[in-house]
Amino acid sequence: MRTALISDIHGNLQALMAVLEDVSRRRVDRLICLGDVVGYGAEPNACLAEVRRRAKKILAGNHDWGAVDRLDLDYFNRNARIAAQWTRRRLSPDERRFLASLDITFSQEGPGGFLAVHSTPVRPQDWHYILSIDEAEYQLEHMDRDLCFVGHSHQPVFWQYQADGRCVVAGREYLHLEPGRRYIVNVGSVGQPRDGDPRAAYAIYDQEQREVIIQRVQYDVDTARRQILEAGLPMALAERLIYGI
Ligand code: ZN
Repeated sequence: MRTALISDIHGNLQALMAVLEDVSRRRVDRLICLGDVVGYGAEPNACLAEVRRRAKKILAGNHDWGAVDRLDLDYFNRNARIAAQWTRRRLSPDERRFLASLDITFSQEGPGGFLAVHSTPVRPQDWHYILSIDEAEYQLEHMDRDLCFVGHSHQPVFWQYQADGRCVVAGREYLHLEPGRRYIVNVGSVGQPRDGDPRAAYAIYDQEQREVIIQRVQYDVDTARRQILEAGLPMALAERLIYGI
């Protein structure tokens, strides 16, 4: 079973279509979306329609719930709040209902099983970010599964829990899952990468080979950027796509 995991599309249709095209060429059995389909970008409706058509499972992200009043926007920074309010005005009643109804976790049992969430395996509803070794170590220590896929920080990385209870970064591109070890995999962001690489990111998990590969995909950044400016969204949201920050 080969699973493509996408996250943080953020209304960037150019990036999403480039990723879906890449996925279709890589013998993938199913697609799972870890949330934040909307927010920041200029094409929330088209992105939502495309992800609904292609993904077997879609989880809730904080921006999805921010756009439908399930999350207080005080929690957002200024540009995120402006984008959430802009997005809210463009969503149809059906789209709003759909986003509000999304689950916050997905679990697959059995050999090769895993947990998937937008933010963190422990208390995902708090929308914390795993940005440091200490935070990753806490999450790895308290989660009750050996493998968890997350998004949220927009930075692909593999956190590995060692036998001595310490956490290390086990890479950012290719991971072989060692038996008896515990991992958190951040799949990166399709529509707003923040690791200095402007290409769209997503992950492919191969259960039989016990490996995870982060794929990077070129897309038409210029069109995505121009659409954000034409929509009257904050300029910073357009400019950051050029640099992947
Ligand atoms: Zn996000």
